Amino acid sequence: MCKMKILVLNCGSSSLKYQLFDMKGEEVLAKGLVERIGISGSRVKHTKGESSTVHEPDIQDHAQAIKIVLELLTGPDTGVIGDLSEITAVGHRVVHGGEKNTKSVLISQDVVKGIEECIPLAPLHNPANLMGIRAMQEILPGVPNVAAFDTAFHQTMPQEAYIYGVPFEYYEKDKVRRYSFHGTSHQFVSSRAAEILGKSIESIKIITCHLGNGSSLAAVDRGKSVDSSLGMGTSCGILMGTRCGDVDASVLLHLLEQGNSPSELSDILHKKSGLLGISGVSSDLRDVETAAAKGDKRAKLACDILYRSIKKYIAAYAAVMGGVDAIVFTAGIGENSDVTRKAATEGLEFMGVKIDDAKNDGLRGKEAVISADDSKVTVLVIPTNEELVIARDTQRLAK
Ligand code: ADP
Repeated sequence: MCKMKILVLNCGSSSLKYQLFDMKGEEVLAKGLVERIGISGSRVKHTKGESSTVHEPDIQDHAQAIKIVLELLTGPDTGVIGDLSEITAVGHRVVHGGEKNTKSVLISQDVVKGIEECIPLAPLHNPANLMGIRAMQEILPGVPNVAAFDTAFHQTMPQEAYIYGVPFEYYEKDKVRRYSFHGTSHQFVSSRAAEILGKSIESIKIITCHLGNGSSLAAVDRGKSVDSSLGMGTSCGILMGTRCGDVDASVLLHLLEQGNSPSELSDILHKKSGLLGISGVSSDLRDVETAAAKGDKRAKLACDILYRSIKKYIAAYAAVMGGVDAIVFTAGIGENSDVTRKAATEGLEFMGVKIDDAKNDGLRGKEAVISADDSKVTVLVIPTNEELVIARDTQRLAK
């Protein structure tokens, strides 16, 4: 009965992360990352035990990516299960659950409908999540699917954090409000930070910086999210790979008045902005940092805007909470870019933040404290583990 094997799928805008868990001992049997889906240079890194293999098929969409992942999980050399019937349940990271979905749920027709209804709020992610759900329902009929929503952890935000300065009736009638995202990640790294510090989460104030293609910061006050930088949709807050971050509403009105349709406007804000839109080089920070180091001025500007936007949110959230005990960097950029971590915290010495270069430089993808011993605020790098949180929820709900 305890032989539960759970596949967790995390479909990002251009990536797919997967992990197959044996829930007995929460052991990861295999995991992997499909990168650059729909962009040239698609790549799958599949890891079984200690050994990894890299595959470079041309991958057009998420459905194709999932088929390749399932072949790898059952393949003669790369496989960890005899056949697909060994998978007892599938957990899906779903970005937008609106106000209806405040917790993880077993997926039904109704849940799928709810996720569809939220597509206008998360146009890059909910369709990718739905592709994952539909592909699994088709390939493994009868196997339960669970949705874990990115919005759930932030449901503790007070009204002053989630109500916008527009007439209140839009909230009452249409639920126009801040939801914010990456909840499983903020929840996981904040509780892990408390463990590392040896303190109860109920006693400390943490700012979590989830920096990936999509990014958000959260103010986690004694275990509860009290503010977070994404909003009703996924385009606000700090600068992202292709998303604009905070812009004045007048810019949007100007673009509409210039004749852009709402869907063209959505395309501009979600797909053509951010690092890509400013640098003209790429949405991938590695490419932009490389171009900036070679003297590309717009690439450097894009990086500087990114670093500054992170710093502004860190200071704002410290103010909101009346102090901060720990700052956590996580996700692709947070875990890997020492340059970003350094630049985003430089100048925050006035509020007790001091990075130790010897600890930060070159640190990639590993849990570590990177602040100086005499820093009042502890700064940490904690690889996120959204998949484990989702696997636990899936096990609980699929029993
Ligand atoms: P997603 O939001 O799609 O899940 P990830 O969390 O995988 O994104 O983060 C992707 C981002 O992380 C990309 O911008 C990528 O350039 C960045 N990244 C990954 N490794 C590095 C690195 N070594 N240096 C700088 N940026 C990195």
